[in-house]
Amino acid sequence: MEKLIVASKNKGKIAEVAEILKGVYEIVPMADIGISVDIDETGDTFEENALIKARYVFEHTGLAALSDDSGLCVDALGGAPGVYSARYAGNHGADEDNNNLLLENMRGVTDRSARFVSAIALVCKRGEFVATGKVEGRILHKAEGNGGFGYDPLFYSTELCKSFGIASPEEKNSVSHRYRALAELVKKLAR
Ligand code: IMP
Repeated sequence: MEKLIVASKNKGKIAEVAEILKGVYEIVPMADIGISVDIDETGDTFEENALIKARYVFEHTGLAALSDDSGLCVDALGGAPGVYSARYAGNHGADEDNNNLLLENMRGVTDRSARFVSAIALVCKRGEFVATGKVEGRILHKAEGNGGFGYDPLFYSTELCKSFGIASPEEKNSVSHRYRALAELVKKLAR
């Protein structure tokens, strides 16, 4: 099975990518091949940032590299936290602080519609490929469940009729932004 190096340190994200691509690609976290840097996400869009991360790993290893750049876009907040989702409250990947800040910024807000967006980039000898996916929902008034990672407990999926924090990994993966972006990417690769 072809190996793909995942340009990420986010364990929740890596586990989801590995599960979704099970049987299609072997997923190897970049840490397993000795890459531990924080790759600067200097792009303004999910697509740009996904490409930056996958390119970095491909250019440093020559191995096919896959990356996801994703986040939560809340309508009432003008699309925030968006590309800043991982560092919304300041420190990269501080999920609890991010969730608390989101709840604070949504206090008293009635339009709670939001979506998760994922851009997946693959950079390999064949070239560069990018695909995107999204899942619609709304922001809860308090956390429900503790499954998944990041903003999952605050995100009510209108398709699953439950929060991503309560959904099983299989349920989340059946509708998630990441699943949809990966499915689109696999389709593009087959063309
Ligand atoms: P990235 O690693 O820069 O792409 O940051 C992604 C951030 O977006 C994560 O740290 C989470 O805060 C948020 N995020 C992306 N996808 C999900 C998801 O599936 N569930 C919950 N939070 C997510």
